[in-house]
Amino acid sequence: RRKLVEVRDLKMHFPINTGILRRHTGNIKAVDGLSFDIYEGETLGIVGESGCGKSTCGRAVLRLYDITSGTIKIDGVEIGGKSQSALRKMRPIMQMVFQDPQACLNPRMTVAAIIGEPLDEHTDWSKAKKLERIYELMDAVGLNRSFANRYPHAFSGGQRQRIGIARALALNPKFIICDEPIAALDVSIQAQVVNLLEELQDRLGLTYMFISHDLSMVRHIADRVAVMYLGKIVELAPRDALYADPLHPYTQALLSAVPDPDPSVEARVQRIILKGDVPSPSNPPKGCNFCTRCPKVMDICHQIDPEYRELAPGHFAACHLYNDAGQTGAPRTERNQ
Ligand code: SF4
Ligand code: MG
Repeated sequence: RRKLVEVRDLKMHFPINTGILRRHTGNIKAVDGLSFDIYEGETLGIVGESGCGKSTCGRAVLRLYDITSGTIKIDGVEIGGKSQSALRKMRPIMQMVFQDPQACLNPRMTVAAIIGEPLDEHTDWSKAKKLERIYELMDAVGLNRSFANRYPHAFSGGQRQRIGIARALALNPKFIICDEPIAALDVSIQAQVVNLLEELQDRLGLTYMFISHDLSMVRHIADRVAVMYLGKIVELAPRDALYADPLHPYTQALLSAVPDPDPSVEARVQRIILKGDVPSPSNPPKGCNFCTRCPKVMDICHQIDPEYRELAPGHFAACHLYNDAGQTGAPRTERNQ
């Protein structure tokens, strides 16, 4: 399979300035050393609780920010260090669908103007050609063409998300990051939007990064899943391997809270309740980031940050339980302590 996206050791640290002198007092390590690939045509799910850095990761990969360090290759082009003006040429192939379509649709622009804006910026097409493309996009996302001259406030949340998706598709992107695209929608229409995203992916050969806190939804849509905790990927695996056989204690805890469609699994898995709060990303614990809450914590976990390693083909995790240093390693089928 061809890699469309290749991220290595991506860091996104934000300086904290406090006090009268506004002295630099440290960094919020929102994203702290992520490495992953996304293959052409697949969906990589990124899951984790709010504040784990998953949205920052998405925005950093699209270079909506200047990153702190690391490399990001998209379709063979290294964009990690490019200036915003140099990125312009790459913008058409990478797009984003945001959580709250209301917040990113200009209320004073018509639907046609919103969907057509990327065409204004990146093409020199005639008005007629643009309008033809806008209609085509409206058809593709299931919006009636008669809506073209209306304003966003006239639409439901689901329709507004369709407008956002049409706009993201305007320039024929290859790669789309969906950041909680259905979290703001009524449950009754979430499935419609997810089905639309899947249908568009098949039809247009799109590659997705799908960011969500909803593990059931990610199980439905993703081919592979990365789990983030406190700015790091703690585990990444093919979807079925991750849900059936999570290796990292944090993944085990997250999944233990999700009802399993398979009753035999449901009966086996006990809910793991994590104690304490997620530490601040400006002051992560020494050693493993999860050591303050991990039910399986060992002495070494407070000292050494576990290496992120491939433990089975395509199954990566960062945990001392599976390293030589971490005693004997836990049996892979043991899901609860
Ligand atoms: Fe838990 Fe230690 Fe593994 Fe971290 S390295 S997840 S603290 S067992
Ligand atoms: Mg978020």
